[in-house]
Amino acid sequence: MIDPEAERKEILRLYRRLLRHAKPFLKDNDAKIIKKAFNASVEAHKDMRRKSGEPYIYHPIAVAQIAVEEIGLGTTSIVAALLHDVVEDTAMEVEDIERDFGPSVARIIEGLTKISGVFDYGSSQQAENFRKMLLTLSDDVRVILIKLADRLHNMRTLDSMPRHKQLKIASETMYLYAPLAHRLGLYAIKSELEDLYLKYTDTATYKDISNKIRQTRSARNKFIKDFIHPIEEELTKHGFKFNIKGRPKSIYSILKKIKKQNITFEEVYDLFAIRITLDVPVENEKAACWQVYSIITDFYQPNPDRLRDWVNTPKANGYESLHTTVMSKSGQWVEVQIRTERMDEIAEKGYAAHWKYKDGPSSESGLEQWINKVRDMLENNTGNALEFMDEFRKNLFVEEVFVFTPKGELIILPDKATALDFAFEIHSQIGLQCLGAKVNQKLVPLSYRLYNGDQVEILTSHKQKPNEEWLNYAVTSKARSRIKEALREERKVRTEQGRILLEKRLAQLKMPGTQGNINKLLAFYNVPSVQDMYYKLAIGHIDPKNIKEVIFSATSEKGNSTLDPKSFDREVQKIRGVNSDMLVIGENTSNMDYTIANCCNPIPGDDVFGFETGDEDIEIHRTNCKRAIELMSNYGHRIVRAKWTDQKELAFLAGIRIKGTDRVGLVNDLTRIISNSLRVNMRSITIDSHDGIFEGNIMVFVNDTGHLDKLIQRMSKVNGILTVERFD
Ligand code: MN
Repeated sequence: MIDPEAERKEILRLYRRLLRHAKPFLKDNDAKIIKKAFNASVEAHKDMRRKSGEPYIYHPIAVAQIAVEEIGLGTTSIVAALLHDVVEDTAMEVEDIERDFGPSVARIIEGLTKISGVFDYGSSQQAENFRKMLLTLSDDVRVILIKLADRLHNMRTLDSMPRHKQLKIASETMYLYAPLAHRLGLYAIKSELEDLYLKYTDTATYKDISNKIRQTRSARNKFIKDFIHPIEEELTKHGFKFNIKGRPKSIYSILKKIKKQNITFEEVYDLFAIRITLDVPVENEKAACWQVYSIITDFYQPNPDRLRDWVNTPKANGYESLHTTVMSKSGQWVEVQIRTERMDEIAEKGYAAHWKYKDGPSSESGLEQWINKVRDMLENNTGNALEFMDEFRKNLFVEEVFVFTPKGELIILPDKATALDFAFEIHSQIGLQCLGAKVNQKLVPLSYRLYNGDQVEILTSHKQKPNEEWLNYAVTSKARSRIKEALREERKVRTEQGRILLEKRLAQLKMPGTQGNINKLLAFYNVPSVQDMYYKLAIGHIDPKNIKEVIFSATSEKGNSTLDPKSFDREVQKIRGVNSDMLVIGENTSNMDYTIANCCNPIPGDDVFGFETGDEDIEIHRTNCKRAIELMSNYGHRIVRAKWTDQKELAFLAGIRIKGTDRVGLVNDLTRIISNSLRVNMRSITIDSHDGIFEGNIMVFVNDTGHLDKLIQRMSKVNGILTVERFD
């Protein structure tokens, strides 16, 4: 039963609690404006109820409460939060709000109304909405912060929603809002959103992990107490004012670890972190944090790979803290976070807290930089909205790497960024003509992965152009979209060149460029479209000299482009008669002139045929040679059946292609097998190694296929080798 009196009391209680939290920073008329907004919202929503049956006004008050208490926002945001749903859900208009509450509140509410809408995962509608959202973000970041507060309250009250709505709301939260919260430095909100997502999408796992956390609590508390005891004593001795406690990790992050490292709950060593919060004046912060670090590492051995100094260089989202992982007396790694109260507030509440200390957002702050970058991306993005959103999301979660220009200017890039990304970050033109880089004075390839503190100088050349391979190691969306754009442009130009080339060639041959002829070419070269063929012609993968033969020969041939030996034999017999001669090649045939075709390099053991060339010579081809069909259909009368006699001493040239992961000594191991163990002579070896992948072509002299097979077998067993195959 609805009890209007009890509800009225509850509304007032919630409102007073809101005012109490806002009070410390209210100025002049602020309380009056908030009251006016509260009354307007109560009035506008008076006949509405939430799905749970509660009065609707509970929701805007709760959103305002989150804005104040958990994000640290001020009066304008409280007013906007109280009114955030009125334009969309009630008769009130933006103009009414502008008149009663001023332009900045009106603009925020307009932004909030604009970004609400259908968010169906993967639809282009969602992508468009997302883009709108980011555009408003670059207007006033408070729009996004209030939207996050709104979403957090909706997630906290998801119980009363029907199942399908729960799933939909939870997934879009995970897809978009949690990453956004992370990027804005709102760690507490991000973790809660993730945990709630898990609670509704995988309830069993959520319950399982939270039960285990509860069951292990007392053992954990004992461990933490023992661990911090000596530190506490020492810090007190040094006169520090501090707070030290064990902070459990979020359920979602524990699950992520379990999955990623494929371990059990019991094997997760860092279920919690020790956090030391210092009460020191701003000017002593850095020294104090490092002094505490030194005290801790006097007791516990630190892991040098796990020191994170975000005190000297804060993360782009404003996070400041000093992290180290140390070995406890019981042999367990423990993460220790050292920070001041100011840093802690920024870490929990993100940028809003940052402003409080900075007295308004400074133009140099990381958030400003980030917003500028977002604006840049929105303005420069020409691709489709979905592709853009995927690229953007990738950028939300990443950690940063800090590097420097030769002049010492700090450049912040996403983790795993390469020298190539750096070049594009400096300037698109530098990226596009980037040849290589010097990192800390040493020459490195474009794919070089940057590490904190690297000083990077980019080398350029006017002749340089982007190529496909660049996409393998460009990480930032800026670099990737510029490279793709340049490649598309290049391909367009090449395709046109190829088209002209073909046109000229056909005119020369006096052949019509009919669809039929084009189709023959497409089929022969096995390319999917005429554009691809033009392109291949332009870059020399297709030789225009062969076009005549292809068009003629294609007429007499259908289907497969290679023949198996049997049907090959049948074909030859059809042309030359059943009792056609069989050419025996090998040992005792030195009086017979034949050459080994260099298109397919047959060796004894291969199925072969002979081809009479113009000057009385016979060329030996493999029956599966690419040219076999062409030769047979055009010059059937010049085909000779052929087979090998037993052959031991003669050596034939064969090519072996190997691929594998690169390591020191690999080439040595390979050549040892080739020359020592099997006594095979090598003619040439070419090795290409990039990004840890090793590719090599080796030409060897072998006696026959058996000999070659043995060699291939031996080589595949070499450590690091992934594939070994013969090539023509
Ligand atoms: Mn709402």
